[in-house]
Amino acid sequence: MNIIEIINKKKNKKELNYSEIKYIVENFLNNNIKDYQMASLLMAICINDMTDEEVFNLVDCMVKTSKIINYDINSITVDKHSTGGIGDKTTLIIGPIVSSCGVVFPKMSGRGLGYTGGTIDKLESIKNFNVNLSIEEFKQQLKEINISIISQTEDIVEIDKKIYALRNVTATTDSIPLIASSIMSKKIVTNADKIFIDVKYGKGAFLDNSEKAIKLASLMKKIGRKFNKETICLITKMDYPLGNNIGNGLEIKEAINILKNQKDNELKNLCIIISTYIVSMSKNISFDKAKNIVIENINNLNAYKKFKQLIEYQKGDINNINISNKVLEIKSNKTGYINSIDALKIGKICLYLGANKVKLDDEIDYGVGIELIKHVGDYIKENELLIKVYYNEKTINKEIVLDAFLIEDEKQEKENLILGVIK
Ligand code: URA
Repeated sequence: MNIIEIINKKKNKKELNYSEIKYIVENFLNNNIKDYQMASLLMAICINDMTDEEVFNLVDCMVKTSKIINYDINSITVDKHSTGGIGDKTTLIIGPIVSSCGVVFPKMSGRGLGYTGGTIDKLESIKNFNVNLSIEEFKQQLKEINISIISQTEDIVEIDKKIYALRNVTATTDSIPLIASSIMSKKIVTNADKIFIDVKYGKGAFLDNSEKAIKLASLMKKIGRKFNKETICLITKMDYPLGNNIGNGLEIKEAINILKNQKDNELKNLCIIISTYIVSMSKNISFDKAKNIVIENINNLNAYKKFKQLIEYQKGDINNINISNKVLEIKSNKTGYINSIDALKIGKICLYLGANKVKLDDEIDYGVGIELIKHVGDYIKENELLIKVYYNEKTINKEIVLDAFLIEDEKQEKENLILGVIK
């Protein structure tokens, strides 16, 4: 067997068998297959797709190269994942909600790269918050308080990091089988009993349309079934930012406001729905019953107390969140209804301000970002406050920010954020 034959086979739209996939995974991991050969194969996969069987085999081989976590916990553990979007801070809200409802929430998260932020960067905007617990400390904390959120350790599916780095520089990030195998191999080795995935599509997500999102969700669901992990995928739209705050410290502040029950918005509603699915699947109870439990734990502030406990356990100072005090207030240049806010443009502005990394070795400015004072569907008058820009090193032109907003005389019907669920 050799890599050139395998590339040729995929180029000619033939199905790769288990031993060929095993050969690829093992030999790319130990550097016998070179980056240029792997890049060529990834492009052939990107163009010619993979069968379900090939994807199952790829996941299996990736999983077998990795350390697998075992929790030694008697309760059901649930992992929640989002494919990412602008202002998506749902993990920070849903984790405390579901764990206050008795679900164990082990979460290994990633950092942001490009326009979308990562949960770990957001948590690091809290002074002294430790994202680097050992696996033993992670497991111990889960036993004690039901929740821990840490940075993914190096030994979790190392092959995925190698493949992902190459995909990033070879225009092969948007292949459905490659995304599905990347996400699900990590979910299987982090080994929660059940998996919930929010698959996002639209302007601020890396999948641009609903067909691709449905295809990805269905494939991940099938992988879950194959590996005995009950998996639910929600398909949600990401054309405008999720919630009002975008930027690391600002997103923590919004999560706290929601958990303190001081703010109602679409983000809160989405978090309630996802939390309900998670509580329902882990306790094996109806959606309605689970929703009551979720709402009760938000209303009695148990969810907020759980968030505070999480921060304290991981040594963070909840009273010290990095938010810049340099603020540019931007007023609306029109009167009318806000019919859209371009998520991608907002993401690019935050990236420019320093909220995210362009390259892996860039420094993040945790304090910068955008607060949307008004959101899609709201009515605004000319000269009324629309946005606050929190900045530090770099300033931004008001016109560039206003360009992300579509304000019109007629109100457009707002589409439902949730397209569907694949259970
Ligand atoms: N997230 C992942 O972990 N992998 C992908 O390929 C895309 C998103």
